[in-house]
Amino acid sequence: MHHPLSTLTSLVEQIARTQDPTAMMSTIVQRLSELLNVEVCSIYLCTPERDSLILAATQGLSPAAVGHVQLAVNEGLVGNIAGTLSAVNLADAPADDRFVYIPETHEMPYHRFLGVPLLHLRKLVGVLVIQGHQREPFSEEDEAFLITVASQLGSTLYQLHRDGEWMSDVQDISPFRRYRGVKGASGVGCGRLWLVHPQLSLADIKPSMTSNPAQQKSDFMDALSSVKEELESGSGRLGKHLPSDVSALFHVYQLMLQSPELSDGVKQLITEGASAEWALKQTIEGMASLFEQSDDPYMKARSEDIYNIGQRILNQLLERDQQVLEAPDEPLILGGELISIADLAAFPQERIQGLVCTSGSTLSHTAIVANALGIPAVMGVEGVELEQNRGAKVIIDGNRAECIINPPQALLTEYKRMIDQENRVMRDLERLRNMPAETLDNVRIQLHTNTGLLADATPGLERGAEGVGLYRSEIPFMVHDSFPTEQEQYRIYVNVLKAYSPLPVSMRTLDIGGDKQLPYFEINESNPYLGWRGIRFTLDNTQLLVTQIRAMLRAHAECGNLKLLVPMISRVDEIIAVREILDKASEALKRDGIEIPRPQVGMMIEVPSAMLLLPKLAQHIDFVSVGSNDLTQYLLAVDRNNPRVSNLFDNMHPAMLVALEQILTTCKSLGLPVSLCGEMASDPVAVLMLIAIGYDTLSLSAYNIPKIKLLIRSVRRADLMPLLEKARDCTDESQIRALFEPVLVKLGWSKDGRQPPEDSSAA
Ligand code: PEP
Ligand code: MG
Repeated sequence: MHHPLSTLTSLVEQIARTQDPTAMMSTIVQRLSELLNVEVCSIYLCTPERDSLILAATQGLSPAAVGHVQLAVNEGLVGNIAGTLSAVNLADAPADDRFVYIPETHEMPYHRFLGVPLLHLRKLVGVLVIQGHQREPFSEEDEAFLITVASQLGSTLYQLHRDGEWMSDVQDISPFRRYRGVKGASGVGCGRLWLVHPQLSLADIKPSMTSNPAQQKSDFMDALSSVKEELESGSGRLGKHLPSDVSALFHVYQLMLQSPELSDGVKQLITEGASAEWALKQTIEGMASLFEQSDDPYMKARSEDIYNIGQRILNQLLERDQQVLEAPDEPLILGGELISIADLAAFPQERIQGLVCTSGSTLSHTAIVANALGIPAVMGVEGVELEQNRGAKVIIDGNRAECIINPPQALLTEYKRMIDQENRVMRDLERLRNMPAETLDNVRIQLHTNTGLLADATPGLERGAEGVGLYRSEIPFMVHDSFPTEQEQYRIYVNVLKAYSPLPVSMRTLDIGGDKQLPYFEINESNPYLGWRGIRFTLDNTQLLVTQIRAMLRAHAECGNLKLLVPMISRVDEIIAVREILDKASEALKRDGIEIPRPQVGMMIEVPSAMLLLPKLAQHIDFVSVGSNDLTQYLLAVDRNNPRVSNLFDNMHPAMLVALEQILTTCKSLGLPVSLCGEMASDPVAVLMLIAIGYDTLSLSAYNIPKIKLLIRSVRRADLMPLLEKARDCTDESQIRALFEPVLVKLGWSKDGRQPPEDSSAA
């Protein structure tokens, strides 16, 4: 392509005549895209602080993205050009490691990419980019021309950059911020931020006296009974959706409300002259401190519940607890430090579109309940000023663990489109519910579900799960107030087995320790992931394991579809010990007249030693389930919950590929069925690799089943095999991902697989 310099001169002259900055930049991108015959031409300008770049004009990308797409220096390809001050010319931008997909640009279909820095007197002004559909780099001639254009435009645009006037032109100034947290529950929701805790807290109450103790006592008693009623109706409302274990937590609150220490304590202080609020504050603090002094960690933790109850009574007293009534009748995102189950119950469930909590983790009660109710949630979000953003529009992206405050209209529209698309895909995929997860070249993959709460059971079945690949039995233990009895456990297990019967249910024995703590049995260790965890803990607390196994066996006697799964096996003697306990429990139950069919016994491969000892373990087990979360953690020595090393945690690390292939080959040679149940089975890029390796049973959250089924039905395993061949030569995970990602992009998915194609009807 020949680019006469005369054309360039005329372009610059034309620009010089244009006064309005927005019009000037529009002219540049429009004329350049014509001159270079490219689909996209965009200008990104530096913010006055020079720490990020904003899309200032574009021909070809979504116009709605102008002024709203912002990339930090060194973020994405554009940020990289700004950081290195050098040109980038690529045949396939989405396949590049530095590429960041920004949904609101709609840039997915473009492959070739050429970007050059815009400089004035060696200072960065912005970045000029051209993009096109073809998958080949731009010619050297194009590159030279764009660099020349950029050098001419640099000084013109510098003017705009310096006075920052363009920004107000292209951008509504709103404090748009993204915050990262920890995944609570998957899914995406938009709504208005509604704080669940009122501004005035118990801690703010100052000493005050009353001259009318009778009135104050009556106000206090009214407040107390309002809170009681509120909890009763809340528990009733949520009770339809929650398993009995969770509803039981309401009971704890009720008991506290009824305690004479509370009502008598407050009334006594009022009699002595204190106002109701001041009397309440002193009584609650007194009760909480008794719990805080306890040596028992469970009792210690109850002080939080006391404060919670105290706050609710205070709200009633001050008539501030109009929040539910006052909350606008529109979709809401509930925010707070931690949102208690009682808070959740106070709002009509259909209005809650998401949760954002400034503390808590994936396994906190709030996250567990959000998961069970299908509400997207992000936990442990640091730095977010919820108070200052009351009433703001908020997006909760539970898939990326992100909370976006004041999203620009374009982003909001894009997310709403994603939610609609997701709903459409889900509706669409109902059609696939009874169809097999089978590749185009007839490789059948079994899709099972991971569950933990009873309320989880139905979504799995509704989404076509062919069984439960992982029932995390620790979750019912976590929402309980003490170790559940054999009878309580039996009731829970029999419900799960019944719901899925005759489909198989792999129930895992208690896996606590690590990041999974029971509120009533704290384990304090300096290195908990390498400590008293999973089977090590339960074998040392034999009675717990015996009780659990008995409860599972009794449920199995009734339903016949139990598969017993043992977590964290690292030694042969561990599985032998479990088998002995199982045999003894069966014999004991038989003596009681309960005939138990022998359940299959399997083990998780999470610890590298279990993988290496497979041939020796094989004679003691009937099946194997790969826990890719922990296997990655232990193989790579990367803490799965530490954000500081999260960039190193990737299931597609080359060592994981070696391990996964070795496990499958060994299991095949030993005739052991093998499945995989970690988060890897929900990651579309990883699923492509797993299919190629030969994994034919995957277990994942019910939420992700339809998407993964869609993917499986869209690919041919034979096409993935050459990629696997190449992956074996890769030295890091990004190279492996780069091999499989283009398969998704070609099928119309986003590169990381988070967004399936809009039109999924082909599968
Ligand atoms: C795993 O480790 O991959 C797994 C499924 O178990 P969990 O996430 O419960 O540790
Ligand atoms: Mg695990």
